[in-house]
Amino acid sequence: MKKINIAMDGPSAAGKSTVADILAEKLGYIHLDTGAMYRCVALKALREGIALDDAEALKEMLSRTDIRQDTEKHFFLDGEDVSKAIREDHISMATSDVSKVGVVREDLVRRQQKLAEEKGYIVDGRDIGTVVLKDAEVKIYLTASAHARALRRLKQNQENGISTSDLETIEKEIEARDYQDMHREISPLTKAEDAVEIDSSDLTIDEVVDRAYALAAKFLE
Ligand code: C5P
Repeated sequence: MKKINIAMDGPSAAGKSTVADILAEKLGYIHLDTGAMYRCVALKALREGIALDDAEALKEMLSRTDIRQDTEKHFFLDGEDVSKAIREDHISMATSDVSKVGVVREDLVRRQQKLAEEKGYIVDGRDIGTVVLKDAEVKIYLTASAHARALRRLKQNQENGISTSDLETIEKEIEARDYQDMHREISPLTKAEDAVEIDSSDLTIDEVVDRAYALAAKFLE
């Protein structure tokens, strides 16, 4: 069967990762979570005491940084499983800070493009349809109200045993991060002109998956 690439962008906690996981399973594709890659960079910078806006130091750090995702969606930073550590709430805003830096974006975009070269990828992030995979056959912009997203994030944190803030704090953090991601100078989060927008506020995960699958199915004959 013909393989395509699917780009999935949208604000934080809109359900991109969950939808991409299910879709990847259905299609036999690989889900590449680019947010996790940025999270790994933030985690390592914090651990090494590197300022999140120090382009020179970040560039040097990236030159000796290995980031991998296995088939079970575990993330390895220089060989260490950091799957849980990168999901802590305090890492989220630090990630948004570090992802503003041009050299960080250039480095990670290159790594992502190389991985998705073969097709058969569902790549989720903020700049996939606009920068990383401009020629992806299917582009989806998945969004939802900040409140719906905060509720989901809280539930997700609790289910995964991740230390979590309360609902109000999460909602504020989500709004602040969205604002920063949408207003940064380089590759701000924006809907690609040729992306299909899906608002998941009042949809179940299955309904979102069905819509996304229908978009992909057209290309698979
Ligand atoms: O998707 P996730 O919430 O894990 O992403 C964490 C942060 O990484 C985002 O808030 C954004 O600042 C950054 N990011 C990005 N470009 C991507 C993916 C994530 O700038 N392609």
